[in-house]
Amino acid sequence: MKTDVNEEFIELMWLLREKDITPTVAEIIKHGTIRQPEKVLTLLESDGFITLDGPKILFTPAGEERARQLIRSHRIAERLIYDVLGGEFESGACEFEHITNIGLVEAICTMLGHPRECPHGFPIPGGECCSSSADTVRRSVIPLTDMDPGQSGIVAYVYSKNDQQLHIIEGLQIKPGAVIKLHQKHPTFVIEVEDAHIALDNDIAGNIQVWRSTRKFVPVEHKHVDGQGRRSRRRRS
Ligand SMILES: [Zn+2]
Ligand SMILES: [Zn+2]
Ligand SMILES: [Zn+2]
Repeated sequence: MKTDVNEEFIELMWLLREKDITPTVAEIIKHGTIRQPEKVLTLLESDGFITLDGPKILFTPAGEERARQLIRSHRIAERLIYDVLGGEFESGACEFEHITNIGLVEAICTMLGHPRECPHGFPIPGGECCSSSADTVRRSVIPLTDMDPGQSGIVAYVYSKNDQQLHIIEGLQIKPGAVIKLHQKHPTFVIEVEDAHIALDNDIAGNIQVWRSTRKFVPVEHKHVDGQGRRSRRRRS
């Protein structure tokens, strides 16, 4: 596949099919913004991605697989932008899908916990990562609120629509890469980060996403400072 317009074409075919609309040139023109669709059609046919049945445009198995991957990348990208980056997922996702590779999509899918639906509620076609973990669906990244007291992990990202909250979290040195240990959940969250004990409101704790503690993610240079370097502070936030 050489150009983006070819990809947009088969992506649009997939979307039409999801709406129970049989893809035809007329429907492609009606629902998309693809210029010279007949020309694209000819290219896709000669590349073996589609076949024609009268006015109906059908996927070949290769075209079907390609469209599946594109839709999957697109919707995983939407989830990433929406869940992690907190941004406008409408504009960025389509560009993302055309530059990504399957391995990267699998990694993001795993990080997000193999989501089934995009933020619009459309199904995300599953990948190999999803089926291999289907019996033990364990998120790699979990909200702090899902951790058990005594567990530790590494901060993956912090997400909040509330700027003030973000600044509070930042001020507490809770940043990606920081080692975090959960001490208690009730009556309020108490965590240890950078050798300080910090009390957090529940809604703030829920916005902190943590890599499950595995040896792989623990930075080797992290040393627990005892004695002089140790201080304790409690903050209300
Ligand atoms: Zn797209
Ligand atoms: Zn979507
Ligand atoms: Zn997956």
